[in-house]
Amino acid sequence: MPPELSRSRELPSVCPMDCPDTCSLLVTVENDQVVKVRGSHANPLTNGVICNKISRGYPEFVHGPNRLTTPLKRTGKKGEGKFEAISWDEALDTVVEKFKTVINDHGPQAILPFNYAGPHGKISGSSMDARLFNKMGATRLDRGPLCGGVRGLAYASLYGAMPGTPLEHARQAKLVVVWGNNVTVSNLHFAAIIKDARKNGAKLIVIDPKRIKIAEQADLHLAITPGTDVVLAMAVAAEIERLGGIDRNFVDGWVHGFEDYMDRARTVSIDHAAETCGLDADDIRTLARLYSDISPAIMSVANGMERSRCGGASIRAIGVLPALAGKFGVPGGGLIMKAGNAFPATGDRLQGNHMIDQGTRVLNIIDVARHILADDLDPPLKALFIYNHNPVAVHPDQNRMKRALARDDVFIVGCDVAMTDSMAYADIILPASSHFEFNDVYGAYGQQYLQRAAPVIPTVGDSLPNTEIFRRLAARFGYDDPVFQADDQQLMNDALDGEDPRLNNIRPSQLPLDRVLYMGAKGTDGDDTQPFINVFPDTPTGKVEILSDDLERRYGEGLPEFKPLASTFPLFLISPSSDKRINATFGGLAMNDAIEPLEMHPDDASARGLDDGKTVRVWNDLGEVHLKLVITDAVPPGTLYSPKGAWIKTSATGQTVSALVPGTKADILDGACYNDTRVEVGAVDS
Ligand code: SF4
Repeated sequence: MPPELSRSRELPSVCPMDCPDTCSLLVTVENDQVVKVRGSHANPLTNGVICNKISRGYPEFVHGPNRLTTPLKRTGKKGEGKFEAISWDEALDTVVEKFKTVINDHGPQAILPFNYAGPHGKISGSSMDARLFNKMGATRLDRGPLCGGVRGLAYASLYGAMPGTPLEHARQAKLVVVWGNNVTVSNLHFAAIIKDARKNGAKLIVIDPKRIKIAEQADLHLAITPGTDVVLAMAVAAEIERLGGIDRNFVDGWVHGFEDYMDRARTVSIDHAAETCGLDADDIRTLARLYSDISPAIMSVANGMERSRCGGASIRAIGVLPALAGKFGVPGGGLIMKAGNAFPATGDRLQGNHMIDQGTRVLNIIDVARHILADDLDPPLKALFIYNHNPVAVHPDQNRMKRALARDDVFIVGCDVAMTDSMAYADIILPASSHFEFNDVYGAYGQQYLQRAAPVIPTVGDSLPNTEIFRRLAARFGYDDPVFQADDQQLMNDALDGEDPRLNNIRPSQLPLDRVLYMGAKGTDGDDTQPFINVFPDTPTGKVEILSDDLERRYGEGLPEFKPLASTFPLFLISPSSDKRINATFGGLAMNDAIEPLEMHPDDASARGLDDGKTVRVWNDLGEVHLKLVITDAVPPGTLYSPKGAWIKTSATGQTVSALVPGTKADILDGACYNDTRVEVGAVDS
């Protein structure tokens, strides 16, 4: 081996995970292997600090036994995990031949790209793949309902595409409200900012069903019953009005539908909210009083809370509070949401959306398994291409997904970095390179720094970057449009508007690797984003629309509304982010082999005669999972916690908490309802 390859080198990179922070990284490489990953200071927000899961997990993810390094052909039953190695030629030829047969027999809409957002790089996330499927005329997939779509639509109904307040502004706040954001697990660098604000005398309020780590430091923690946030937010709005805390000038100038909304909010008494939300009435009064009295006040609303039957209503009712109470336009005040709106993304160009035939059907991602099993589509789904996604691990109603993928009359192509629970159902597996092996550009959804990363190691084994896999497939299908000739440099340039003045004439593919570019307010050279000072709502009325004609027309949800949840199962089960995985990514690593925890309040455990540390069965009418009981008062009575994203190896039943999540839909966008999971728990031998 040449000496320069065996030498230890430290190279810059970017974390591609589904995490708002998008840390800049330094990767230690020896003998073409990633041996260590740590934070770099290129990104001033993340500033050399990264989470443990990335530093612990990445070397094994890239080089460990679960890494896919060669194309595979299934030899056993679907889901059994038996494969044999084949060449790239055989793999790609088989995919093209099968897809052509499906197109010939049923038309191109019988094919579905079944992807979500594995790596968050612009070109590995979705570029050449989308061009291929758009050209083919495959069924289109509405991916938003699985995760961020409900939150995004709810926010957009209020503020349009306006970026929210940058989270760094919280340093100047005198009150920080963290509503549904487990910052130490899934927004790590916000925790440091809150600490700075606390040092400067800020008060901290945390609203979360669980006493998460940041709640231990809070002046007030409201352990809310899952799915009831809209009730709390309406009661708080009404109480702020009673306290004289409504900013009439701001409301008159900027809020559309104020009286309609307040007519509804005024019907929600503090006592009613306390009962519905499982809270102390005095705590609700304190929340309203502090939010009314203290300025600057900033609020962070993260991903997760919207995953319920009234998730859209909750985000809207919470998201309007800073407008009602006049918290915008003050340094250190506002609403931390949708930083991703700051980036000049050009997704239509990147994904070749001009090739879409507008008559092509669109399926909700959470309905895919149902359609396959019910055979209720014309044409039926006869081929899936699963990539950047692990549907078995993350979709609601996991057992339904497994039954759907097990159908022998549906041809499945899988493409991933690792052998996952979903890849086990594929007929052909194509090994994808990890993001350490290719070029990409990175925006973010929790901060405003644009970054680029170059490969730090060669492609591992015979793996290929997603872009190259789909480029080769396009060539085999005979697609010779210029968009299929684009190399990765061109794709990076297609991903962003290079004319945006904030890019300073730097082409995206030429962004420096050791620095970031701040995407400040659009239309400026990069001025600090300040909602209602230099960025504004671009809703139809140009105001904050708490009364939404669009949501009324599409979903009958003109105003936020609470809907109770009926269930015969007594306990709520929430499954938020884990501190060992990012969604299901890293689930195949050795550190994620063990049975997963179930946190339960001592009263609930005692009522069931359950002992701490024992394996328990958690079930409802959709499935049964075995988890290890942790008895703790960090969760309130009636609410259980177990982290999401586990793989089926962790439970003796071959099911994870996803098996218990109902296939019901949220109030807007038909989104998934993870937080509406109700279960019962018993000893394994009962
Ligand atoms: S997962 Fe999040 S906190 Fe961890 S390194 Fe990646 S971006 Fe940073």
